[in-house]
Amino acid sequence: ALTIGIVGLPNVGKSTMFNALTKNNVLAANYPFATIEPNVGVVPLPDERLDRLAALFKSDKTVPATVSFVDIAGIVRGASEGEGLGNKFLANIREADAICQVIRVFEDDDVAHVDGKVSPESDMETINTELILADLQTLEKALPRLDKEVKGKKTDKSVLDAAKEAQGILEAGDTLFAKGFDVAPIRELGLLTGKPFLYVFNVDEDQLTDTELQASLQKLVEPAEAIFFNAKLEMDLTEMSDGDALEMLQGFGATESGLNQLAHKGFRTLGLQTYLTAGPKESRAWTIHRGWTAPQAAGVIHTDFQKGFIKAEVISYDDLIELGSVAEARAHGKARMEGKDYVMADGDVVEFRFNV
Ligand code: GDP
Repeated sequence: ALTIGIVGLPNVGKSTMFNALTKNNVLAANYPFATIEPNVGVVPLPDERLDRLAALFKSDKTVPATVSFVDIAGIVRGASEGEGLGNKFLANIREADAICQVIRVFEDDDVAHVDGKVSPESDMETINTELILADLQTLEKALPRLDKEVKGKKTDKSVLDAAKEAQGILEAGDTLFAKGFDVAPIRELGLLTGKPFLYVFNVDEDQLTDTELQASLQKLVEPAEAIFFNAKLEMDLTEMSDGDALEMLQGFGATESGLNQLAHKGFRTLGLQTYLTAGPKESRAWTIHRGWTAPQAAGVIHTDFQKGFIKAEVISYDDLIELGSVAEARAHGKARMEGKDYVMADGDVVEFRFNV
């Protein structure tokens, strides 16, 4: 599954947020393919379309799409000096498809700050510096190899050029993501700052309605998305009924919990979308990358679906709801047979045909 790695300095509220996330865990039983490890939180993506499909198909259950978060402990200032960032940290963060930085904004004299004061800007810089230095080390090792490969005509020169351009950006102190650098040619290098970033600002309860503060923090992290929440409040919300939680949220001028916002914005940041399957057994949303073709999408259900892919019968959700059944959709020419080059659209309701 695609994952978002959670990083941040110590004492910013990562564990609190992560505990809230895992409390909100969808039942692991729904995901036999996903081994749930202690540092992985699987969060459902709220989707009202599933309930309507379930009503139409008399499904036994609905299964929402999910976003997986991995708690990646271990960032401290200076980590990239000497020993460098820990191998385990690097391995974990390389595997993540996006990076979620948790930044402390809340003030609390009882909770020590590693640098002695709360400063979102300098904390972000500390984290980014470590990630940038790790990438520079990766490039230092890779460049001589790429140079040789280009001379031996084993690698295209555009790859070497991209690596050099990346090095220039990093040496200037910028992350590749912030500069909109296209990492595609050098994806094999697994550069950390080339991944999409997402920011969670852990604010005090009274800052939840401080739009001025939030606007200035949002500006700091552009083009990344930002979420403002209070980790302790999020923890409390997971223990309430939906009704009580909503009432509580409305008291803070919000309609959606921070965790749900995190799921939605995480999705956007990852460049993800869902497609839907529906039947008597279940109505379900599946997570794919935007731009994926039908066979790639089928592969999310099972690798055999991708290998043996023949066709996808696709009905758009709106058509299906309007016409009321697959048979009616077919009768009205709204059920399309799509081949292997079809690029999936958001809200496609799909049935795959495949050879075993
Ligand atoms: P981590 O080191 O980043 O994982 O941080 P923790 O989640 O362990 O939180 C560190 C301390 O800050 C704990 O004592 C938390 O209870 C406290 N804490 C976390 N979030 C908040 C918050 O939003 N407000 C306040 N006042 N304290 C918080």
